[in-house]
Amino acid sequence: MIVAGVDVGSTATKAVVMDENLRVLGRGLVPTGANVTRAAERVFAVAIAEAGLNDCDVSYIVGTGYGRYKVSFGHAQITEISCHARGAAFLFPETRTIVDIGGQDTKAIRIAAGGEVLDFSMNDKCAAGTGRFLESAAQVMGIELEELGPLSLASRLPLKITNVCTVFVETEIMSHLARGKKPEDILRGVHNSIASRTMALLRRVGIEEAVTFTGGVARNGGIVEALEERLGVKLRLSPDSQFIGALGAALFALERSNALGTQPLHAAEQRG
Ligand code: ADP
Repeated sequence: MIVAGVDVGSTATKAVVMDENLRVLGRGLVPTGANVTRAAERVFAVAIAEAGLNDCDVSYIVGTGYGRYKVSFGHAQITEISCHARGAAFLFPETRTIVDIGGQDTKAIRIAAGGEVLDFSMNDKCAAGTGRFLESAAQVMGIELEELGPLSLASRLPLKITNVCTVFVETEIMSHLARGKKPEDILRGVHNSIASRTMALLRRVGIEEAVTFTGGVARNGGIVEALEERLGVKLRLSPDSQFIGALGAALFALERSNALGTQPLHAAEQRG
């Protein structure tokens, strides 16, 4: 029995292919771009190729993320809140609070043992505190996304960044650079600002240990450290943090296909 989870995020589309022994056989990650349906198809193709399978080997597919209804070949759609909860509880069963920072939104989720969602809070109104905010900072400073975290951690005298709007923060960064401030001190300020906003969101749902960090921004060690400093506890982190929504979707797919006793169905046929 092979299943898949496809997580169509605002910035990145991820897929996980899994077997009935809960082994991840393949993963895919592509930029979402303008054509959401196409991104879902492409990421699924990448993941099944990595698994060495064909699409007709996959019995059940769950779509999640903001573009989940665009997963035209999916058999069910489940919210990313439930899927992050499921994925985090699978990787770290002690998880009670999840912080998910993606490309354009941030979520704080409280869960019960087993992954049931108890409460959540979301910031999707503005890019402040999200991956987008970091991407703007990287762009204006001419730094690769991957370098942001490590550079911020080299700071000795973090600056205070006062603007929360991505447009104004770019101006603020430029003026600091013009005054000869060190890039690492500016960046640490940007990371601290995101961590503080994230803490406010977490406090809304209540922080209970263990806290698991999911989403693409969990790959940024600068945000991890800034959050841990404020939380006073270590975060649960996986190298697959960006795939946790897709992983949760695959776990739901497995559960549903088991319940239905599905035989491998022909995805091509499903796609019409
Ligand atoms: P979404 O599901 O909302 O599309 P993701 O959870 O996939 O978002 O996260 C995308 C964000 O992850 C990007 O905006 C970027 O800021 C961040 N990101 C991705 N890869 C890295 C990396 N290697 N280092 C730092 N940040 C990263």
